[in-house]
Order: sequence, then structure tokens, then C-alpha cells
Amino acid sequence: MSDLQVSFEFFPPKNEAMQKKLWSSVEKLKPLEPKFVSVTYGAGGSTRERTHDTVLRIINETGLSVAAHLTCVAATKDEIDDVLRAYWDAGVRHIVALRGDPPGGPGDPYTPHPGGYANAAELAAGARKIGDFEISVGCYPEKHPDSPSTAADIDMLKRKVDAGATRGITQFFYDNTAYLRYVERVRAAGIDIPIVPGIMPVTNFTSVRRMADVCGTTLPGRLVKLFQNLDDDPATRQLIAATVAAEQCLDLAEHGVKHFHFYTLNRDDLAYALCHMLGLRPRGKPRVNAA
Ligand code: FAD
Repeated sequence: MSDLQVSFEFFPPKNEAMQKKLWSSVEKLKPLEPKFVSVTYGAGGSTRERTHDTVLRIINETGLSVAAHLTCVAATKDEIDDVLRAYWDAGVRHIVALRGDPPGGPGDPYTPHPGGYANAAELAAGARKIGDFEISVGCYPEKHPDSPSTAADIDMLKRKVDAGATRGITQFFYDNTAYLRYVERVRAAGIDIPIVPGIMPVTNFTSVRRMADVCGTTLPGRLVKLFQNLDDDPATRQLIAATVAAEQCLDLAEHGVKHFHFYTLNRDDLAYALCHMLGLRPRGKPRVNAA
């Protein structure tokens, strides 16, 4: 699959040990020539400086194309515009524009910051005014929990596209049918930006279950059974995680998906193995057709 593209999401490290882990992952994944790597923005803007520093370090030390996540939470428009200008001046050309979750966590009602951007569509429009950024946005095959319906959610995606978004990256999902059906509905609504599947291999089932609950991601019964009784057996869990994620990616590839976004959690092992299974090889080695 020679036109395969991948991207990798990282989070800004909190300490020296996490810093090392992130850097060894970046080094391992870099030769796969990702279309971009992205760096998350902590809930409530809590990692503003760390996100900024991590983005700049990756750009300056690796030359990779980096997308900086940015949210609307707990900041005025002027404060967000300053962050955007600082990114533009530092050579960042890609933003993942997000509303963010309420300070009390997902599930609480969201109240925009007074004087802030109310949602991701407004943020995308604001970013467009600051610079000619490439703008990715979040999208939700199983609908955002705040949304009354999939149709309303797709309307919101349309508003983000009208505001300048050029790519949707999905919330993680394990039911490929939900993704494929969602893409059909998005196309039927006249939205033609790429809808890149976000792939989250299950390294820790307990935390994936918690996140899935919060995000409205369905955990298929088969998946739940596969991870039963493995809480104390990380080695077996890792093998099963790789198998499950490989099945998911290969099935999506068979359905024509050409770009995969991996939620790496700053680990390279599964993301690298999945890229290999999809036919991607490091720079200088021929790619193979895996689908
Ligand atoms: P929006 O698209 O603005 O809104 C989400 C939903 O809320 C809409 O679909 C709609 O249903 C409803 N809504 C919002 N405004 C309106 C309105 N005016 N009228 C009607 N309905 C409305 N969070 C972080 O804190 N940091 C990150 O780095 C981060 N990275 C992410 C990366 C990806 C790829 C994804 C999918 C999510 C990420 N998130 C991150 C989580 C994200 O912040 C949450 O999902 C948040 O609750 C919604 O963000 P959004 O940009 O999709 O919001």
C-alpha cells in the first residue's frame, strides 16, 4: 500500500523519565516518515508551556511536521491568539483545534470562558485569522456525548469545516462499522475533508474502559471477553492488544482507509508494529502491499 500515511499523537512529558520515553519513541517512529506527529494540550490548558516546548523541540530536533493541539478552555480569545501567534512565529503550521472538556471533566455541562472561543469552530476561525494554519479537528463516529444526535454532531463538523478545518481525526473506536457508517453520513452531508481514524491499541484495558465510558466509545463484547482475567498479565495483554489492533487496522485498510492516526500514549512498540503490518517500512526500505 504505497500511498499509506500515518500520524502519531504524543502527550507532553511531566518528568525526566517520561521525557526519555517520549524521545526514544519519537526516534523509533521517525524513520516511518509520518505525515505529522501531534502533541496534546492538557485538560484546562494545564500543559500550555509543556505542549509548546515539546512541539518546538520535535520540530527543531527532528524536522518532523508537528501539529499542536489547542483547546478553548480557561482562556480568553486574546490569550489563545497569543499562543497561536507564538506557534506561527516559531514555524508551527498545523493546529488541532479543539473545544476541550469542562474543568470538572467530561460529562459536566460545558460553559465557554467569558471572552473565550465558545467551541472548536470558533477556534478554527480564530486560528485562520492569525495564520494560514493547516487545521485538524476532532470528530466522533459514535457521536460526541454532548451532542443530541449524530446529525447534530455532523452539523457541528460542518461548521468546523466552514471555519477552515481541513481534516477530521476521530475519537478512538473499536467498532469499524460505526466508523464506516459515520464516514458515509459525513459524505452525504457534503463534507469532503479526510476523516482519519484514531487508533488506540488497548494496552491497559481498565483505563481504556474508563475512557470509553467517558467518551461514549462502544467496547464490543468480543473485545471485553478477550481482555478478561488479564489484569495481572501485561505480557499476554500486549500480545492480544497487538492482534486486536492489527485486525482493526487491516480491516480498515481493506475498506480503503489510507491514513491512520495512532494514539501512541508515548509508546512506540505497538504503533511501530501496526505500521509494519500495514506495509510501512522505515526510510530506504521498500514498502509492501499488506492489504
Ligand atoms: P466541539 O466540536 O466544539 O464540540 C463538541 C460537541 O459539543 C459538538 O459535536 C456538539 O455536539 C456540541 N456543541 C458544541 N458547541 C455547540 C453549539 N454551539 N451548539 C450545539 N452543539 C454544540 N482534549 C484536550 O483537552 N486536549 C487535547 O489535546 C485533546 N485532543 C483531542 C484529539 C482528538 C483527535 C479528539 C477527537 C479529541 C481530543 N480532545 C482533547 C478531547 C476534546 O477536547 C473533547 O472531545 C471535547 O469534549 C470536545 O472537543 P471538540 O473540539 O470536538 O468540540
